[in-house]
Amino acid sequence: MKDRQIDIEWLTDEHECDTCGWSTAEGAKITIDGKPAICLEPSAYCFGSDQWDADQVLGIVLGEMGIRTLLTEPGCDPEDISRGRPSDKLAPLDQHAPVARIEMSAIWDETRDDFSQGYRTFLGNEVIFDHPPALRGSDKSPYHSSTEALVALAEHCGARFTPGSIEAWMRGQKEA
Ligand SMILES: [Zn+2]
Repeated sequence: MKDRQIDIEWLTDEHECDTCGWSTAEGAKITIDGKPAICLEPSAYCFGSDQWDADQVLGIVLGEMGIRTLLTEPGCDPEDISRGRPSDKLAPLDQHAPVARIEMSAIWDETRDDFSQGYRTFLGNEVIFDHPPALRGSDKSPYHSSTEALVALAEHCGARFTPGSIEAWMRGQKEA
């Protein structure tokens, strides 16, 4: 797969209401190889804000790169996140598009207040990332987010993110 330069400008909208107080909504403007691709314009409201979280935005980026991404949270069915929400009305992917699967898994020990989350990513039948959860004591147990898995998958598939597109937490790094 060829390299694509991906720029994500993260957008925030705010709404103030005398009854509900402040609400915020997040979205993103996605530019690929210097051309505006998709604008997910957030609109904050008291309820039913129009917004996209980081995983939804990255799923759409992968879709724009021609990759169908199925994300499976623990205990849930796989969800195709490559074309956003039905209301986003994005053009469907080719039915022969490569399929990536991210399977999230988590383990915990309630008595020790110890929790760990990991993931395994398949591209076709090949495992390209394997970060299993492991209980190593409360502060040392790894926590890998689905956002981190999506960033790693996109970069594996040729995404070259511009500076500022991906914040440290999205790579699973601690904030500086
Ligand atoms: Zn309100």
